[in-house]
Amino acid sequence: MSQEHPSEAPAEPELGGRLARVRAEIAEACRAAGREDEPELIVVTKFHPAEMVRELHALGERAFGESRHPEARDKRAEAGELEGARWHFIGQIQTKKARQIARYADAIHSIDRAGLVEALATAEVERPIDALIQIDLTGDPARGGCPPAEAQALADLVAGTPTLRLRGVMAVAPLGGDPAAAFERVAAAGERIRADHPDAGWRSIGMSGDFREAIRFGATHLRIGAAITGMRPVRA
Ligand SMILES: *Cc1c(COP(=O)(O)O)cnc(C)c1O
Repeated sequence: MSQEHPSEAPAEPELGGRLARVRAEIAEACRAAGREDEPELIVVTKFHPAEMVRELHALGERAFGESRHPEARDKRAEAGELEGARWHFIGQIQTKKARQIARYADAIHSIDRAGLVEALATAEVERPIDALIQIDLTGDPARGGCPPAEAQALADLVAGTPTLRLRGVMAVAPLGGDPAAAFERVAAAGERIRADHPDAGWRSIGMSGDFREAIRFGATHLRIGAAITGMRPVRA
């Protein structure tokens, strides 16, 4: 066994180190923004094995983000019972997969069209799924999200759907754009929805590259992957 590559070293110290650094940066960004309430950290574990979810749980994490079905379903099953764990589905959803995703997702961040809400309305759920309206800030339909102008009507539809509980808005800042300008638009859309639905105050904004700005713009949930999990393994 070589000294430089001790093969028995567990992955956890590195993972724990990255997690601790991100947690410290979140706390620092909250102080800088004058916020006393910290947003909830959702660790995005897509492409990583169930074992990493278990390690993160052992390190105290409780919220996990996944963006692909059936990877998310299989990982949740493989991870086993993790006390207090909540699974957030954050990726684009094909209408025909919606009911399957509803079986294991505690929250769905990517509600972006009426057809998807109608499919979720027929899902068998033990309790309503926390639902967020994904706002499209790119104008590129391939990236998911509903146009800001349509967000309110969609929110009304979700609010009237017993299998869902309208919680707020989600967005991905456009690549290469100014995240602050993007988050300002999400915040405005979120406020318009909240005017009619006072419980819908969640703002799921902020990823590895822009969570500091997201904290300034009122993020209640951060979806952070690579900064904590390291590079995503390349899929075979
Ligand atoms: C992958 C993903 C994230 C996490 O992105 P990182 O840059 O790895 O932090 C957040 N939100 C969505 C919708 C994603 O697909």
